Amino acid sequence: MSTAANEDYYSLLGVDRSASAEEIKKAFRRMALKYHPDRNPGDKTAEERFKKISEAYEVLSDPDKRRLYDQYGPEGVKQAFGAGGFQWSDFTHADEFSDIFEGMFGGGLFEQLFGGTRRGGAQRGSDLRVDIEISFMEAVRGVEKTIEITKYDTCSACVGSGAASGTRPTRCRHCGGHGQVRVTQGFFTIAQTCPICRGAGQVIEKPCTTCRGTGRVERRKTLRVKVPAGIEDGARLKVAGEGEAGARGAPPGNLYVVVHVKEHEFFKRDGNHIICDVPISFPKAALGCEIEVPTIHGPVLLKIPPGTQHDKIFRLKGKGIRDLQGQVGDHFVRIKIETPTNLSREQRELLERFAAACGESVHPQSTSFLSAVAKFFKQFSS
Ligand SMILES: [Zn+2]
Ligand SMILES: [Zn+2]
Repeated sequence: MSTAANEDYYSLLGVDRSASAEEIKKAFRRMALKYHPDRNPGDKTAEERFKKISEAYEVLSDPDKRRLYDQYGPEGVKQAFGAGGFQWSDFTHADEFSDIFEGMFGGGLFEQLFGGTRRGGAQRGSDLRVDIEISFMEAVRGVEKTIEITKYDTCSACVGSGAASGTRPTRCRHCGGHGQVRVTQGFFTIAQTCPICRGAGQVIEKPCTTCRGTGRVERRKTLRVKVPAGIEDGARLKVAGEGEAGARGAPPGNLYVVVHVKEHEFFKRDGNHIICDVPISFPKAALGCEIEVPTIHGPVLLKIPPGTQHDKIFRLKGKGIRDLQGQVGDHFVRIKIETPTNLSREQRELLERFAAACGESVHPQSTSFLSAVAKFFKQFSS
């Protein structure tokens, strides 16, 4: 096969030497679409080019071959992988390639291109995934987002048929639409893929000029996506039919929107409940007070009884999130008692007087803990 190509594999695909596997695959798809023999009928240069870029892809998509190629060039690959190096015939039947082409052209075209035996019916378009990020409150209230995607969409000129306007794909006369013909060789009669339609059973006499007969064109599309109120981080929304168009009028795939929710400054979510830490001063906790606490529904007045301890939780019923099932959670306020710092001289003196005035009854927890500790050590000393 054509290994005479002195051209560098990377420049054939139009990628950097540092390109990732994904970039190489993308570049190959792009190039293969352009030079695909089906789209350039009778053009020998395009066909030759197509083979060269396929050869480049065959090597660069295989980590071992790529490493050899990087170090020793095409000769290195050939030596390691047999005299022939690149085998066009092997390559055309590799599953990996059929998958790529299926994604590109649909099963029928793969057969047309390589004369394989796969008989794909209508090839549904691939699903697409897009990730979006929304704020905590957007997740609580729901939001509509605009997203932009690039995808293969149905060609509007031929409405996906691949045939030039005013024409339609016709049944292949050679095989009568079966995709296979019987050939007699000596004593045997064997079934072969129809050489005219290459197994598709249909032929396009005049390909659509807009999509070159594939029925699809790459297009940038803007979509409005409704994110429902109460959605959780990592949830996946399905937008039916907004994936890639199928080849030649086959049904489209779906679009999946994965929603990422940013963390909030002070609200934490647990199912449909909200937890919020609220610091209060130690005199307020001791004396009791009324404080205004934030909830996702607005501020709420909360009564803090005298003697409230650190980590005490107050529940505000029905002030949580309404989830997708319509269940409404609660809002939990967790009190964090702040020990005063940076005391002035006067504050310090007041606090010292306060401490001196405090008897055991003021701090029952400390008192009972100290007596338990005293008892604990006493059993060893006796
Ligand atoms: Zn045929
Ligand atoms: Zn078209």
